[in-house]
Amino acid sequence: MERLSRLYWPILVTPKNAVVKTLDATSRSQKLLTELGLIKPAYNGTFQIMPLAQRVLDKCVDLVRRQMRNVGGQQISMPILTPSELWKKTGRLDGDITEFYLLRDRHAKEFILSPTHEEAVTAMLGSSAPISYKQLPLRLFQIGPKFRDELKPRFGLIRSKEFTMKDLYTFDRDTATALQTYTQVNSAYDALFRQLEVPFVKVEAASGMMGGSLSHEYHFIAPIGEDQLLSCDSCGYAANVETVEESSDKACSHCNSSSLRRVPGIEVGHTFLLNDKYSKPLKAMYLKENGKPEYLVMGCYGIGISRLMAAAVEVLASENELRWPTLLAPFDVCVIGAKQGSREEQAANRVQNDFCSSLGGVCKEEDILIDDRSYLTIGKRLLDSKRMGYPIIVVIGGTAANPTPKIELHFKSEKLDVEPSEALKLIAEYRNRKLELYNNSFESKEHVNSSEASFG
Ligand SMILES: [Zn+2]
Repeated sequence: MERLSRLYWPILVTPKNAVVKTLDATSRSQKLLTELGLIKPAYNGTFQIMPLAQRVLDKCVDLVRRQMRNVGGQQISMPILTPSELWKKTGRLDGDITEFYLLRDRHAKEFILSPTHEEAVTAMLGSSAPISYKQLPLRLFQIGPKFRDELKPRFGLIRSKEFTMKDLYTFDRDTATALQTYTQVNSAYDALFRQLEVPFVKVEAASGMMGGSLSHEYHFIAPIGEDQLLSCDSCGYAANVETVEESSDKACSHCNSSSLRRVPGIEVGHTFLLNDKYSKPLKAMYLKENGKPEYLVMGCYGIGISRLMAAAVEVLASENELRWPTLLAPFDVCVIGAKQGSREEQAANRVQNDFCSSLGGVCKEEDILIDDRSYLTIGKRLLDSKRMGYPIIVVIGGTAANPTPKIELHFKSEKLDVEPSEALKLIAEYRNRKLELYNNSFESKEHVNSSEASFG
């Protein structure tokens, strides 16, 4: 169990007479995560992640990693520095490079602080002996920092210059099998976003700087979203406006209905079928049954982990209180005990000790937070923990000194006065549901079909 008094939690304190500068282009997630001490602005569009937010990111990484392994992904790590000559070979260095960080080492060799790793991973395969067709499909992913020299970093972690990404690169023998991979990875993405329980839209997308032939994006819908999505109320088809020709944004390209809505989206995931755009110039090949070499057919699949955390807050939080997807909350339960020197202190402490030792059997110890700042009133601590969005808050105060001790359970904006045993029962139910959500992410047939249908 974690004690709040030990937690590094640099809450933003604005002096009472300070002139508050309104940050330009701020957002709900940026405001709350900064004010409540989960992230700290570092330098010019980069952020320091504080322990509470790190817990959320770690949980997100765990979910994403499970989904990737579930589709046969193997985790690797590649250097952040990619020689820019690799990007020359694929032609991307000749495109718009204003958002790349380029740097030179002492031998004047030029590198990119990688925003993505298609070149690096493809060159890695190209420089090894060709793999056998028997080893395909090959699916390699990594989770780590990525860099973009954004002209206008904004909305905190939603558009920052350094961010955490999961990037998966897939290698298949031909287009047909690459399409199967594409379908499977998209299903894993669908499962992940369903697990997070944040409403999402999957849209047809433009391939942009990646190239390739087929692409989808996953978006959370929020007013600050920088992408415009067209969504058809009649058949459910959705697309990024970028992909839709001017003339056809009045009628749905699938069912011809005119009930198209424009909604702003925050892109949290992206999938691309790349074909041989990278494998050809970087000579990434496999050996066919007859021993002849052939170019690998590739796909790449990203999820912006740090952006996803902020975007979920953007969608779920109220103006003053954070709210988390069940599987990402930094803690499940926050326990608030009696105030030091209060009349009920001794009796309440006894109830709290018993309660907490039983709680360890119901919850994972690491998901329990004890707000032991007993020098503060219960009211002040309750307010804090509500703002932090802990799913369950337990207050063990005055009524714990009753002949039949009662405690307060704050759960889903309800307040219940219950005996400790009843509270434990409710928390166990919550945990069971969470566990189901955690495990029950894997594919049903029905789901694979529906995602195929949306490929259009
Ligand atoms: Zn339609």
